[in-house]
Amino acid sequence: MEQYDALWAFQEEDMKAESIANAIKRSPTRQKLEKARDFILDRQKQYKQIEDDIVGMSDRKDIISQAVALSGDQMASLNRRFEENPPQTAEEIKAFLAEVSRCRDTIRQYEAEISRIARESASCEKLQRSVRMDAARAKQSFDQLKAEYEAESKSKKDELEQQREKVRAMADTVDAKLMAEYENIKKRISPPVARLTYGQCSGCNTSLPSAVLSRIKNGSLVECETCGRMIIP
Ligand SMILES: [Zn+2]
Repeated sequence: MEQYDALWAFQEEDMKAESIANAIKRSPTRQKLEKARDFILDRQKQYKQIEDDIVGMSDRKDIISQAVALSGDQMASLNRRFEENPPQTAEEIKAFLAEVSRCRDTIRQYEAEISRIARESASCEKLQRSVRMDAARAKQSFDQLKAEYEAESKSKKDELEQQREKVRAMADTVDAKLMAEYENIKKRISPPVARLTYGQCSGCNTSLPSAVLSRIKNGSLVECETCGRMIIP
């Protein structure tokens, strides 16, 4: 039974350490800090996306510029043909003019596309600047919060370290097999050990069958079938 008392005393100190650690995690400054960090990450992602978009637009503009140059060549060759070998009949003149007009339309469409891309690029760059400024402001507030949080948690962390030291020292007083079981159950439920109180598991208040009760009273290692805790006398 003594080994169970040592385990129980160990759990009490271990739970104290856990509650200090939780208080540090739940600090409002820490929550604000995490929010600021998420905001910055989000803006970085957005920035990268805009950058990719701008590169895509620039590639598209290059391709269209090449197409415009080709159409320009085509126009020049139409001009040459007109000078060297002018159309004679009304039919020929009509066909030639149609060709010129198609070529001109194509160039006009390409140019319209290029100015559309230029407008889009400009608005993307403007957005990119504002995203960068947002991120820079967020970084400032993050740094400030971080300093606040570090100052605030310094004393709590010292307290936690002292408590963990105490827990480590007490671990030596607990039977190794019980300790292994304790650590194992703690992964699923915390606190991992419950007392037997009035025939019930103190962890979940389930009444235990008499066969289980006598096993606990005999000092056997028993886990609650309902909550999975180790039940000790
Ligand atoms: Zn239980």
